[in-house]
Amino acid sequence: MIKLSNVSKVYPNGTQALKNVTVSIPDGDFVFIIGPNGAGKTTLTKLLLGEEKPTSGKIEVNGYDLNKIKHSKIPYYRRTMGFVFQDHRLFPNMTVFENVAFAMHVIGEPNKTVKQRVWKFLKYVSLDHRAHNYPRELSGGEQRRVALARALVNNPKIVVADEPTSNSDPVMSVEMMELLKKINDLGKTVIVISHDIKMVNYYHKRVLTLTDGLLTDDHKKAGGDENED
Ligand code: ADP
Repeated sequence: MIKLSNVSKVYPNGTQALKNVTVSIPDGDFVFIIGPNGAGKTTLTKLLLGEEKPTSGKIEVNGYDLNKIKHSKIPYYRRTMGFVFQDHRLFPNMTVFENVAFAMHVIGEPNKTVKQRVWKFLKYVSLDHRAHNYPRELSGGEQRRVALARALVNNPKIVVADEPTSNSDPVMSVEMMELLKKINDLGKTVIVISHDIKMVNYYHKRVLTLTDGLLTDDHKKAGGDENED
């Protein structure tokens, strides 16, 4: 559950990146966040990551009050979230397997569990045959799928994907979106930040629109996704 109540963010230089945003995203929801450059999408992501604090208002995620969360608790909180960054943030000197395993090693999971789960999620994103390759040996779409496997490996409740279809051809975009839908079908909340209006319209999910820091629209397209895919 994500709950923002009257959230505003003013950066030290005076830029007001978010203005009085109030929104609830229940568990299991699938939400697109759209808006032009500078609308506040990245700022919202940073608040959800705990990288930035709101200037005013309240943010609760997965039972954590992000206004009050202690620095030492942030890593525990982040484990309830899986982030897929636009630039992947894969380690270039680690193989695909090691990149996904790293997220589990840092929290001290035993080797056997790590191996089992890494294989499970590499299969899930259809990249088990690439386990021993390095990120540079993969296509952009494949790298993104590795990042998705890494985001899933610690069993987060919420998955946030930042522009998961940018610089992708239509086949890659559909593959990625179908994976995100599959993850949502498992009961996880999925949040997709996107510029790709055609794709957003195609999926008929809830769409939050940010405009100049304001939440200007929150609607679910009529028709539902069950009918058209
Ligand atoms: P988006 O991701 O939708 O492009 P951002 O959240 O990056 O929007 O930016 C929202 C506004 O906040 C913009 O005007 C941007 O210039 C400003 N901004 C973003 N990060 C900072 C920062 N660290 N310091 C000052 N202003 C910032």
